[in-house]
Amino acid sequence: KKIIITIDGFSSCGKSTLARQLAQKLNYVFIDSGAMYRAVTLYFLRNHINWEKKKDVEKALSEINLSFQYNDQTGRSDIYLNDENVELLVRDMLVSENVSAVSTIREVREFAVAQQQQMGKKKGIVMDGRDIGTTVFPKAELKIFVTADPAVRVERRFKELFEKNPQITIEEVKNNLEMRDYIDSNREVSPLRQAADAIVLDNSNLTRDEQLHKALHWAKE
Ligand code: C5P
Repeated sequence: KKIIITIDGFSSCGKSTLARQLAQKLNYVFIDSGAMYRAVTLYFLRNHINWEKKKDVEKALSEINLSFQYNDQTGRSDIYLNDENVELLVRDMLVSENVSAVSTIREVREFAVAQQQQMGKKKGIVMDGRDIGTTVFPKAELKIFVTADPAVRVERRFKELFEKNPQITIEEVKNNLEMRDYIDSNREVSPLRQAADAIVLDNSNLTRDEQLHKALHWAKE
């Protein structure tokens, strides 16, 4: 029987990697909910939307169409913003610096959550994010809450970003993670929380394979 699996946690805990591998093994669909918030943020930045104004936010959201499309070359699903593949663009530092602020906006969350719940109508899905087990799929059959030592997270993220941008500094990465975690945990609308029925996975000292092995075990229980 196919189920819904949610993976939540702080920034750069390796949620997406685990979710993607888990989906692959189970033949499920993987959805990176953060990519949706990032794509909305990219649209707001490009079009100079004043997101303090509810009317402007509503108008902008009505112009946004998000989708995930399979990429043959990478074997992954890429995020599309109005038919443009923005998978790489949404990882930009400027987007990372603004995405948590944009994600506090009630209208933005309602827009994203409605689409996420639609995707979950067909079971056999692994979705990672911040509020998936609490708000998006409160009845999911398996909820995982990933944690990792902050220093380990900064190091991992830095290595990943440095490959694409050698200008980046550890300080920048650390500040960005701390800022996002703070805003994500303290916002009014569905803040980052561990669901009461979630299993905690501390992966500070686990390899990707070890995490996958544990998650697969839980999925099959
Ligand atoms: O997962 P990722 O780090 O790409 O998410 C980027 C940002 O999007 C998070 O820092 C958070 O502000 C927002 N987000 C959210 N709810 C989710 C997923 C992401 O608010 N379910």
